[in-house]
Amino acid sequence: MRNVVILGGGYGGVKVLTGLINTTLPDDVEITVIDKNPYQSFKTEFHTIVAGTKADIDVRTQFPKHDQVKYEFGTVRAIDLQERAIYFQNRSTVVYFDYLVIGLGSEDAYHGVPGAEEYTESVQSFSKARKAAVAVGNLPAYGKVSVVGAGLSGIEVAAEIRESRPDLNIRLLDRGGSVLKAFDPKIQAHVHDWFVKNDVEVLHYANVEYVEKDGVCNNGICYVNDVTIWTAGVQPHQLVRELPFTKDRFGKVIVNDYFQVPDHPHIYVVGDNASSIHSPSAQLAGLQGEQVALVLSDILLGNEPRKPKEIRLRGTLGSLGKSDGFGNMFQRSVTGILPRLIKSGILWLQKRH
Ligand SMILES: Cc1cc2nc3c(=O)[nH]c(=O)nc-3n(C[C@H](O)[C@H](O)[C@H](O)COP(=O)(O)OP(=O)(O)OC[C@H]3O[C@@H](n4cnc5c(N)ncnc54)[C@H](O)[C@@H]3O)c2cc1C
Repeated sequence: MRNVVILGGGYGGVKVLTGLINTTLPDDVEITVIDKNPYQSFKTEFHTIVAGTKADIDVRTQFPKHDQVKYEFGTVRAIDLQERAIYFQNRSTVVYFDYLVIGLGSEDAYHGVPGAEEYTESVQSFSKARKAAVAVGNLPAYGKVSVVGAGLSGIEVAAEIRESRPDLNIRLLDRGGSVLKAFDPKIQAHVHDWFVKNDVEVLHYANVEYVEKDGVCNNGICYVNDVTIWTAGVQPHQLVRELPFTKDRFGKVIVNDYFQVPDHPHIYVVGDNASSIHSPSAQLAGLQGEQVALVLSDILLGNEPRKPKEIRLRGTLGSLGKSDGFGNMFQRSVTGILPRLIKSGILWLQKRH
């Protein structure tokens, strides 16, 4: 048997999987999907878990079933390139691979800020988002929440918590002079106005010096605080950081045109861990996953792989609670209910693969 192992069943990994099982899969191929969770998680919705506006089951779905697909659910501890083996935490199971796809997603980057890792909540995994939800949900009336980082995830977290809990004092710390610096001024103004109207305090030019159990110290001023949520940057997954591959300045793996690691062409990297000219996103991970499925399918059939087409992104969407949103679609900036409805529609489609 030839073993294809997909490490991480997120946006990238699942697209590789569905792409492969929707083509002709030779009989001697077995696919093993490894994930710490026994379901596919929709990370782009984790802010709703934190805010308590959606239930767990709304932001996950079952993995597809197929005769040639096996699942191993557990947290991976190490990838052994020599032995071509995957090892788990607290389990003796070893999974061997002939072809490996790495789609492990990213983790928080704390930029060396003292106390940030110990005293902040995270939205980067399902279990961490649930833990953040308990911290926010248990706050007494008028509790204080700080969200550090005003990129897409920080905006969505702050807005969703506001919608869930009108009583809370919410502060968003933004490193720049306006929120969402990667978006155009129309969107920045819309989001700014939403925060003013909904009483979310935004502090610009933030420079968090340290975080304590009950406060955030920013530009020499310490704000007393009940819960701090960190959305101030991500880095590649720790297992990827440990691999001796050539990386870019963000620590992402440099891949060739076929998403293969140049010195290990049987290893593919997709999503947040693959170096790209595009910013990391669920959409990018999914499109890369589709391409890898085509390449792998050709190789498994003994054909020369077709060169992947240039990736064209359709735009980015963000939510401000359940009835407002923003985004770039087909090179146009849109705000209000329309982008919000489209975002909900995308989730609906994703849940049905
Ligand atoms: C709150 C929030 C909102 C966001 N909103 C948007 C948005 O609106 N639009 C957008 O395009 N992007 C958004 N993003 C970014 C987007 O979620 C990521 O870019 C995307 O999930 C990356 O996909 P991926 O396939 O690389 O990894 P992921 O989808 O993160 O999948 C990684 C998988 O690996 C598994 N895994 C991790 N570690 C291990 C381990 N040690 N052992 C076993 N399994 C493991 C995880 O369980 C997971 O299933 C948002 C992110 C956050 C946090």
